[in-house]
Amino acid sequence: MTGSASVRLEGIVKRHGAFTALHGIDLDIRPGEFFALLGPSGSGKTTTLRILAGLESVDEGRVMIDNADVTATEPGARDVAMVFQSYALYPHMSVAQNIGFPLKMIGTPPAQVQQAVHDAASRVAIAHLLDRKPGQLSGGQQQRCALARAIVRQPRLFLLDEPLSNLDAKLRLETRAELRNLQRSLGVTAVYVTHDQEEAMTIADRMAVFMEGRIVQVGTPHEIFRKPATATVAAFIGTPPMNLLPARLDGGLVRVGDAALPVGVQGFEDVILGVRPGDLRMGGAGIPARVEFVEDFGDSSIVNLDVAGQRVKLRAGELPSVREGETVHLSFDPAAAHVFDAATGNRL
Ligand code: ATP
Repeated sequence: MTGSASVRLEGIVKRHGAFTALHGIDLDIRPGEFFALLGPSGSGKTTTLRILAGLESVDEGRVMIDNADVTATEPGARDVAMVFQSYALYPHMSVAQNIGFPLKMIGTPPAQVQQAVHDAASRVAIAHLLDRKPGQLSGGQQQRCALARAIVRQPRLFLLDEPLSNLDAKLRLETRAELRNLQRSLGVTAVYVTHDQEEAMTIADRMAVFMEGRIVQVGTPHEIFRKPATATVAAFIGTPPMNLLPARLDGGLVRVGDAALPVGVQGFEDVILGVRPGDLRMGGAGIPARVEFVEDFGDSSIVNLDVAGQRVKLRAGELPSVREGETVHLSFDPAAAHVFDAATGNRL
């Protein structure tokens, strides 16, 4: 292993004609980190990854790998490996030839290629499939073949663009854990693009949340879940996502309609009140809500409610005894309330 790289993006701007895909991206990724780029479709994640790989040029800014400016460096000279959603395997080559291809391209002697191919294939448990063609592999095995090809050159930086999105749900979960173990055991820095917040939360050491060509928050999954920086991030993280209601901050109270509840923030302004479904309680005094329907998941349930025309979800441990059409009252621990400025969307 050649070790793990640090990555720094400084003021990256990327334009496509009149459209600006990236509006000044600054990012620091530490050696050995598993770092996720998370955001909705079109927010600029793939563009950022391709810029790191050198597959895309920048209009402004610098790309640094291990403190060296690689902005103008060709992809092949960056010592990075990329795995795509589509795997991009060569159908006419065997698995062994596919995995060994990057080494052959740089003129590695055949005996050395063979050894490296075997080592890489063993790491992802496909050493018994080396003679097959990609078409004779399952989706999961093709995925491993693409991973083996990426690690065979022992890169210092591993770039992954939604590498699990073609796998079914169960295989995806398994492969996610294996990928994480593989990255740890190689000690390589990984940058992982996904639009699946649950995947980012479970796999990443830290992540950057992208919205419309900007990074709106960087932190550990826990930090971003506990303290989303904006209402938009709050609405994107968590399953089901955070409930957001227009409200008025009145000293240390938040008013929703006629109800007033304490929150851990002071001020007098229009706000967006955010409460996660798991943090809402029913009973006592609180915000009146009409029960619409209940979804029963066996070990938990989601009560769908209407608060002044807006859908609110409450997660309950066991099936609550409520009837459709009934009015209940919602409350929460002041510490569980997220309060965002109504004008800017920023957390208060
Ligand atoms: P997805 O999850 O759908 O892949 P993403 O966050 O990775 O989304 P990008 O692929 O980085 O998004 O694209 C960012 C924006 O740049 C999108 O609005 C996209 O349409 C635009 N874009 C990308 N490539 C080009 C291009 N060659 N010409 C014009 N617009 C482009």
